[in-house]
Amino acid sequence: MRDIAAQAIDLHKTYGKGDAEVRALDGVSLDLYAGQFTAIMGPSGSGKSTLMHCLAALDKPTTGEAVVNGRRLSKLRDRRLTALRRDNIGFVFQAFNLVPTLTAQENILLPLSLARKRPDPEWFDKVIDTLDLRPRLEHKPSELSGGQQQRVACARALVSKPDIVFADEPTGNLDSTSAAQVLDFLRHSVDDLGQTIVMVSHDPVAASYCDRVIFLADGRVVDELARPNREQILAHMADLQARAMGLIGEGA
Ligand code: ADP
Ligand code: MG
Repeated sequence: MRDIAAQAIDLHKTYGKGDAEVRALDGVSLDLYAGQFTAIMGPSGSGKSTLMHCLAALDKPTTGEAVVNGRRLSKLRDRRLTALRRDNIGFVFQAFNLVPTLTAQENILLPLSLARKRPDPEWFDKVIDTLDLRPRLEHKPSELSGGQQQRVACARALVSKPDIVFADEPTGNLDSTSAAQVLDFLRHSVDDLGQTIVMVSHDPVAASYCDRVIFLADGRVVDELARPNREQILAHMADLQARAMGLIGEGA
């Protein structure tokens, strides 16, 4: 049995009221395993970001429970949640979200600085060299390419050795070469550095780097695949799309 790094237990999230009500999550239960690279896929608006934000303690579900490393987030006070986000969770955003006035190194060390902690020098070196960032450490984000900025954001997410890293469309703003570098790094950090990563993507190429692909539709988990290749993911997405359009029936 694999250890569970994070868990969604019957998560519901609704926005708005009455006619304007949107069910972003409609009963999501899911175990995310330690030491795996998991992809969450689904059409735009299917609830991927909402699920990730609820699991990463960036948002609260309407009902249900999110658990990270055995801790039930609904039971934690704000100060403990802040500490958990800082010490136990890494996050990589589509838009990089670096601080423009800080150098790459200062950005990478920001979560540790805020926690008044020093980096583990060996781990810092390993992350920096794996991401090939050493020649860029003194550069500001505006002096870096998109791919380099996202590698800085990956280093920032990993530098505290979090229990789990959440990445929301991390390659969505990158050209295919930079995207491949970031995905290679995420894969490598699972295989060789022992990290746990959950990535939202709608790109079958990105999801084909993962150990497990979970499909969301209309705020529910509808399916999953183990170690699929790009063709299997594409076929699966076409199938889900056809079902959503009513072109094929349930048992087909
Ligand atoms: P995805 O990441 O899969 O594109 P989201 O989780 O962002 O989907 O959104 C799921 C649904 O919830 C969508 O219908 C979206 O419009 C709605 N939604 C997300 N955030 C908000 C919000 N802050 N207010 C109202 N509706 C929202
Ligand atoms: Mg999203």
